[in-house]
Amino acid sequence: MKTGKESHNLFQRASKVIPGGIYGHTSPISGLPDVFPYYCRRAQGCTFEDVDGRVWIDYMCGYGALLHGYLHPEVEAAVTLQRESGSVFNQPAEIMVKLAEKITEIIDFAQWCVFAKNGSDLTTWAVRVARQHTGRSIAIKAAGAYHGVDAWCDPGLGGRIPSDREHVLEFQWNDLDQLKDLMSKLSDKVACLILTPFHHPSFGASVLPQDGFWSGVRNLCDKYGVVLILDDVRCGGRLDDGGSHRYFNFSPDLAIYSKALGNGYAISSCVGRDFLRKASMEVFLTGSCWNDALAMSAAFASLEISIRDSVAQNVLNKGRDFCSGIEKIAAKNGFSLSMTGPSSMPYPYFDEDSDLFLLQKFCRLAAQEGLFFHPHHNWFVSNALDIEMISETLKRTENVFSLMAS
Ligand code: PMP
Repeated sequence: MKTGKESHNLFQRASKVIPGGIYGHTSPISGLPDVFPYYCRRAQGCTFEDVDGRVWIDYMCGYGALLHGYLHPEVEAAVTLQRESGSVFNQPAEIMVKLAEKITEIIDFAQWCVFAKNGSDLTTWAVRVARQHTGRSIAIKAAGAYHGVDAWCDPGLGGRIPSDREHVLEFQWNDLDQLKDLMSKLSDKVACLILTPFHHPSFGASVLPQDGFWSGVRNLCDKYGVVLILDDVRCGGRLDDGGSHRYFNFSPDLAIYSKALGNGYAISSCVGRDFLRKASMEVFLTGSCWNDALAMSAAFASLEISIRDSVAQNVLNKGRDFCSGIEKIAAKNGFSLSMTGPSSMPYPYFDEDSDLFLLQKFCRLAAQEGLFFHPHHNWFVSNALDIEMISETLKRTENVFSLMAS
């Protein structure tokens, strides 16, 4: 099955008025432009319908923005109720205070929190808070890690000037010796270390922290007075309802959440410890629609659902059934496939497939079966998936592998 006619029509129209038609990670060239749909018409639960009327079982969840499934009734009801009063006002609404109370109650180390719209808004702000607090300039990150669209960290080259990266250093994920070396040599210059809970580069297998990695990281930060920032934008809500640091048993100084926080409504939050409160007030923070009460209502309802229903554990369990099922079908058909990373957000990796051709073939054939499997980005498991949908997916995956083998 090829990409539908209506997707192509819309893309042609878009290309006249939107540079590139679609940009960023949803651009057709980031996926499989010959088979993936370019535009979506509607979505419900764990499925979506593209503009050509094809229905897909979804394993991308709006690239992680949906945790409870599309159009979750309780989240939508909370938004509808708030909409009766309005969304953006001259002043914040009460929901902002309620949400901040809820987040600082749920995240064990958090003594304050702030809100914005995107992950990038607050990863960049958090680095500045660390600089303000320490009076130092350098931020250290893991090579290949994504932290947003700003010039200090974005993966592109366009519009950048050399000084954008002058104060950003990198080390290889899991290499504590290299990190120690950097920190000891530059101890009076390093403001912060920003890391994701595990390493999830695009176009590559996910890498979990080795035993002792996070405790080693924490010790080094303490020793050298470096602020430890957890970028939990992508993993937040899918590993532990109380934040991904709990899953890996450590405690950061600042953490940023976004994708799943509002279950499809744009919101991000940075939480922090008390010793950073003063610096947080000294780094200017605002945005035109950042007080949006609709997104805050969605986030409040979404967090309540997560805690009530142990959603992180649920998506991990569902993901485990799904991942082990796929690995078994692959093995039965003579393929060595590992679902890397935690089961709620796996990235599939075939042995000896560093150019990803085999994975692309697999995802292309899966598309014919109505399975939205991405070859270049980790997948996301939605809590709207149920046993029937997982077995339906595995049944279709059997068909995919029988075609792979032929
Ligand atoms: N950090 C991580 C780990 C992310 O995955 C993303 C988004 N893909 C961001 C930061 C940036 O978030 P946003 O796209 O909302 O700005």
